Amino acid sequence: MRLLLAEDDPRIAAHVRRALEAAGYLVDLAADGEEALFRGETEAYALVVLDLGLPRMDGLAVLKRWRAEGRHMPVLVLTARGAWSERVEGIDAGADDYLPKPFRVEELLARVRALVRRSAGIGSPVIEAGRLALDTRLKEVRLDGVPVALSALEWRFLSVLAHRRGEVVPVGEIVEQLYGDDDARDANAVEALVARLRRKLGADAVETRRGLGYALPAAPSPA
Ligand code: CA
Repeated sequence: MRLLLAEDDPRIAAHVRRALEAAGYLVDLAADGEEALFRGETEAYALVVLDLGLPRMDGLAVLKRWRAEGRHMPVLVLTARGAWSERVEGIDAGADDYLPKPFRVEELLARVRALVRRSAGIGSPVIEAGRLALDTRLKEVRLDGVPVALSALEWRFLSVLAHRRGEVVPVGEIVEQLYGDDDARDANAVEALVARLRRKLGADAVETRRGLGYALPAAPSPA
């Protein structure tokens, strides 16, 4: 899944980005408020991590603009330590959760997972779809209970579909969530990825709707 990280402190940005990427997300970075605003208006993100203290345009103003424009992606705001009024303002402006600095990156990851899940209407950190179970905490996929080794890209693909299980996800959206701005990637790359996954997980693991997109089954297979 594709996330936007808006953070001007290069050390925090690099640290958080590394952790998010290791957790399987594709991360775009914005180092100021104007860039964050623009990216949030033009790209589809599964979630935004938004520092409130940003140059050029502060995070609160960015968030208010997005919400006024009807953009509903989940937003986790990063606030200064002890600044309770910032937190109140952030939540009132439409933030879904907040994290005061300094924070442990493990906590940020847990909050990101929970927000992405909640926005997909999924309660459990283990998402079941057909014979597959995706454990979002361990970044592990199990087929009939047995863990399967997957590449980062394969995980990201299944994660996008699992968060919308039972729904056909259009190829264009999948390409964006997997590759971001990389123009060289297209539907053919996704098709090749699905072919690899079918070899690992069985022919019926991922449903293809010709010309439309891909889907995972809505519910676990009956035992
Ligand atoms: Ca800052």
